[in-house]
Amino acid sequence: MKISSLYRTHDPNLLQKIRDGVREQVQAAMADNEITVFFRADDIAVPSKNFSKMMDLFLSYRIPLCLAVVPAWMTPKRWEAMAEFRKKGKDLFCWHMHGYRHMNHERAGKKQEFGPARTPQAVLNDLTRGQKRLQAIMGKDLTQVFTPPWNRCSMDALMMLKKTGFAAVSRSRGSLPAAPEGLQDIPVHVDLHTRKETSAEEARQKLLEEFRTGLASPVCGIMLHHMCMNNQAFLLLEYLLELFSGYGQIQKITYRELISQQGPNP
Ligand SMILES: [Zn+2]
Repeated sequence: MKISSLYRTHDPNLLQKIRDGVREQVQAAMADNEITVFFRADDIAVPSKNFSKMMDLFLSYRIPLCLAVVPAWMTPKRWEAMAEFRKKGKDLFCWHMHGYRHMNHERAGKKQEFGPARTPQAVLNDLTRGQKRLQAIMGKDLTQVFTPPWNRCSMDALMMLKKTGFAAVSRSRGSLPAAPEGLQDIPVHVDLHTRKETSAEEARQKLLEEFRTGLASPVCGIMLHHMCMNNQAFLLLEYLLELFSGYGQIQKITYRELISQQGPNP
């Protein structure tokens, strides 16, 4: 997977500039509203050096993390290999479902696993299979929230999520179609690692814009892709975790708290 231009720059001050920019925005936002944030890491299932490094960072700052697990990639053995992290971060980590096979089914346009190319029945089959597989492997560690690969899915998929008992869907901010009544919409605002800008400076500006929008929202979602991280990306993540952990008044939560605040579906 490709590393964003943000983390391939030779400007030694760029990451510090981002940290200072985020700090300014946090302080400005704090004057207007309460700040609540969650972090979400995608494409989880395969243990790796980067996975362990990411988990260790969240554990050391005691900051919660939502982990989006690809059902077809997860096995009892891989789940067992994550046992130590699960034990140390029992209250921190929120494991949930990320697609089924993480496969594109669209012939044209943007990639989607659960897009308009699929029939409602095919969507239902994959969702049920994925849910059963993760429930069998992860048991009660699984939270009933769904993150579609590439952050988009069809209306049929949203209806089927509701039907199969998911409490919420998490996509990019402003995603359409809107989630139906009874399925909570928990968007992410900030994309740390899969940015497409060719220049680091442009990426910095866009990233800070995303933080500004996110921090002004009731809940700011920050998305990670550990497989696209290099040392620079880990350094920025550490800056951010350090920054957020320094503000006790900022609430750091997971989907668990967000769906329980909402209460049972009407
Ligand atoms: Zn993904």
